Amino acid sequence: MTSQKTQEQASPVIVWFRQDLRLQDNPALLAAAGPVLPVYILDESPGQRPLGGASRWWLDKSLASLDRSLRALGSRLILRRGPAEAVLTDLIRTTGAGSVHWNRLYDAESIARDTRIKTQFQDAGVECRSFNGSLLNEPWQVANGSGDPYRVFTPYWRAARSGLTDIFPGSAPTALPSTAHWPASDDLADWGLHPTGPDWSCGFAEWRPGEAGAAALLTGFLAGALSTYGEDRDRPDRPGTSRLSPHMHFGEISPAQIWRATHEAVASGAAPKEAEKFLSEVGWREFHHHLLFYNPDLAKQNFRPEWDRFVWREDGPGFQAWAHGMTGYPIVDAGMRELWATGFMHNRVRMIVASFLIKDLLIDWRRGEAWFWDTLLDADIAQNAANWQWVAGSGADASPYFRIFNPTTQGQKFDPDGVYVRRWVPELSRLPTSMIHMPSRADPALLEAAGVRIGRDYPAPLVEHGWARDRALQAYADLKSA
Ligand SMILES: Cc1cc2nc3c(=O)[nH]c(=O)nc-3n(C[C@H](O)[C@H](O)[C@H](O)COP(=O)(O)OP(=O)(O)OC[C@H]3O[C@@H](n4cnc5c(N)ncnc54)[C@H](O)[C@@H]3O)c2cc1C
Repeated sequence: MTSQKTQEQASPVIVWFRQDLRLQDNPALLAAAGPVLPVYILDESPGQRPLGGASRWWLDKSLASLDRSLRALGSRLILRRGPAEAVLTDLIRTTGAGSVHWNRLYDAESIARDTRIKTQFQDAGVECRSFNGSLLNEPWQVANGSGDPYRVFTPYWRAARSGLTDIFPGSAPTALPSTAHWPASDDLADWGLHPTGPDWSCGFAEWRPGEAGAAALLTGFLAGALSTYGEDRDRPDRPGTSRLSPHMHFGEISPAQIWRATHEAVASGAAPKEAEKFLSEVGWREFHHHLLFYNPDLAKQNFRPEWDRFVWREDGPGFQAWAHGMTGYPIVDAGMRELWATGFMHNRVRMIVASFLIKDLLIDWRRGEAWFWDTLLDADIAQNAANWQWVAGSGADASPYFRIFNPTTQGQKFDPDGVYVRRWVPELSRLPTSMIHMPSRADPALLEAAGVRIGRDYPAPLVEHGWARDRALQAYADLKSA
């Protein structure tokens, strides 16, 4: 009997892909000996948070890319839709699979589902093995001196970082033994992940979802923008960051690969200080998974319960103006329009727009979190919730509530030539740089020369920032004294 024949007769291992849509450094895949059945399940059961529109777009392309990579190895991606338990049960029954492998997720719904599946299948004699494919440290691997989880980033990262020395990511398989019979698969196009009627995704064209796109971005970043990362990461007018976040969310590249490649870049002459800063941002991602694991309601509940008494405003028109980039504050409007058009927004601008919604408009951070969830390509439960709570002041290690971003001075500082604003708010493009971040205060003759009529071509400020700031501080004082 040939070894090929033996493999065909061995029971297959189901490799259940989730947020690990890659072949390289994929521990669940690497541990599969014998015939492999790669599966992706679109689980839209009531317990799971439905994917936002932008995430559905990315998933569509990323699954197609993974399938192409698998086919190059003589395999393929089986697509199924439905509750994961039921889909896996059916696949085990029809293929005779003897084990299921997956890489772990850290949100409460996924943990509950995966635990149920593990118990149920193992009782039925099907081996379930789970792996760490998404983090440098899993949440429970980092604890303070008393064995408790961290609440503050700096000591968390010091502890987490100290344990990380040489990291060797796994390679991609060079061949994948396939099963004797392929089970039926859904057609990706039938899932309707790509928007139609209307197709609003034309602004997403510059993205290249999939493992190859992620690797190309990382290589380009390490050879280029890394050298000025410390300063340029705060400049939305410059290509100063890696833009890897959607690739990381979908697991097209692992933090171990990023870690290794960054260290190799330093060994070849890249600036260690800039590299360390970049890796500490990857550390924030880890910290937020740590927070989510120990605070499963992070996306729904204030991390600090005293914030439950804060009186948020109901302001439908204000929210709509914010969401559609019509607040009258150019840096806020540029960010919200960039998000709508491209599915991405620069980190500094995310902080500015979030501060504006929460502090200038006093709108509940959860409304902003939900809007981002739907529109961001990198929408991620841990990162989105923890960052929104950080800006609100309700989170762990949060920015103090009284630190309120002034959208005008933030624009002047981080987009000093108005390049970013001119790109996304073209109706202001002819204003001189001195007034680009405060058009409503420009001299009427200047506005006329630039072709801007405030209130017609571009909105007047939704609220006056100084007044809104005092109102926010008063609301905060009321919370503290209640
Ligand atoms: C209100 C708000 C909401 C956010 N929502 C998300 C989200 O849903 N998904 C998401 O991935 N990021 C979110 N972020 C964090 C951050 O804005 C993005 O990760 C970053 O802009 C991605 O760009 P980049 O890949 O070029 O980052 P780089 O500067 O190149 O950083 C490298 C990687 O580090 C991680 N990282 C960087 N900054 C942060 C941060 N503040 N928090 C956590 N991880 C970080 C990301 O994985 C990023 O890809 C949010 C930030 C704010 C202020």
